[in-house]
Amino acid sequence: MNTVVVGGGVIGLATAWRALRHGVTVTVIDPAPATKASHASAGMLPPSSEQIDGVNDLLRLCLASRDLYPSFVAELEEFAPAGFRRDGVLDAAFDEDALSKLDHQQSFRESLGIRSERLTPEECAKLQPAFAPTLGGLLGPDDGAVDPRTLNAALLTAIEALGGTVIRRQAIRVAHHTVTLDNGDAVPFDRVVLAAGCWTHHIGGLPEDAIPEIRPVKGQILRLHSEPPLLGVTARALSKGASLYLVPRLDGELVIGATYEQRGYDETVTADGTRDLLARAAEVIPGVGALRFAEISAGLRPASPDELPLIGPTAVPDVYLATGHFRMGVQLAPITADAMAAYLTDTTPHASALPFTPLRMGRAA
Ligand code: FAD
Repeated sequence: MNTVVVGGGVIGLATAWRALRHGVTVTVIDPAPATKASHASAGMLPPSSEQIDGVNDLLRLCLASRDLYPSFVAELEEFAPAGFRRDGVLDAAFDEDALSKLDHQQSFRESLGIRSERLTPEECAKLQPAFAPTLGGLLGPDDGAVDPRTLNAALLTAIEALGGTVIRRQAIRVAHHTVTLDNGDAVPFDRVVLAAGCWTHHIGGLPEDAIPEIRPVKGQILRLHSEPPLLGVTARALSKGASLYLVPRLDGELVIGATYEQRGYDETVTADGTRDLLARAAEVIPGVGALRFAEISAGLRPASPDELPLIGPTAVPDVYLATGHFRMGVQLAPITADAMAAYLTDTTPHASALPFTPLRMGRAA
């Protein structure tokens, strides 16, 4: 089976790698792999998040991906480091409202069998001395984060090592088992996976209603630097009804994110975005202003019409979708890639992925 994957973000690259591992011949097409949302991403891998408020299909998908992460990374690290750390995620409450949310989260996690430890303000201060005083915290000792840039680089290395081809061009049309590129070249396929993030529905050649619209949701994200690292573990700072991601890397980088903005395909970084993130960070980390500024970047999260991932076959024969992962593409990369590899080898995907079939959209996929 000759499979073409259009789009080389974390979803397309992970899919390509898992398919190669299962003996599929794979070509990835992307003008600039791993430069869009997957490059901007913080790489938080929380067990459950504020967006999931009950046991539902998305939570089951997240938990399946969480279980897969260690083996996914271990296999990938046969090729290159993947930037994964599983040394805990601290949810820290900075006001009463956040503290009561932690009570709810704790019982929710316990009901799912996810380990979590309640921390006093003193214990939070010991774990995260750079924090302003908290009202308490909840530590997920088995949770963590991945550096998406390291992960993407490892996936590209693994794809090339396993004989996959990466064509650095834009796909313009998909028709008659052929992808036409922006230079006019034609790439034939038996099956094609469209994984072009929020640009997926812009690919031409397919019936008008074949691919649902994937809406871009802009996120700006800040990277600072300090040596030694200012924070010990990955954290979410909860205050004023919002949560701020704080992801420290072992090399001293501190990732602070992110904004949510509806601005179409605008990817510019703004002074307002930078100021907002810095102001929110300074409320919870008083010393943050002294850190070296490294980068402000923006990415477009791909949101499907129901804001849930689209993973699997469409109504068009041999055309598959792997997109719409919105705020969770890095977290959901292992389960998406495994499910797509199963579809591409005519085996049954993990049960948690089945509800995410694009066919749920009716003819609109
Ligand atoms: P993308 O990474 O956008 O990749 C799409 C690719 O398709 C691009 O490389 C592009 O060049 C290519 N492409 C587009 N059109 C074409 C074409 N015509 N032909 C060929 N190629 C094409 N998720 C988490 O799990 N944890 C987080 O902590 C987290 N933090 C985030 C923070 C920010 C600021 C943002 C923006 C996102 C964050 N996300 C996070 C979400 C996550 O980044 C996305 O869900 C994920 O990156 C989507 O991956 P993707 O491969 O579908 O899309």
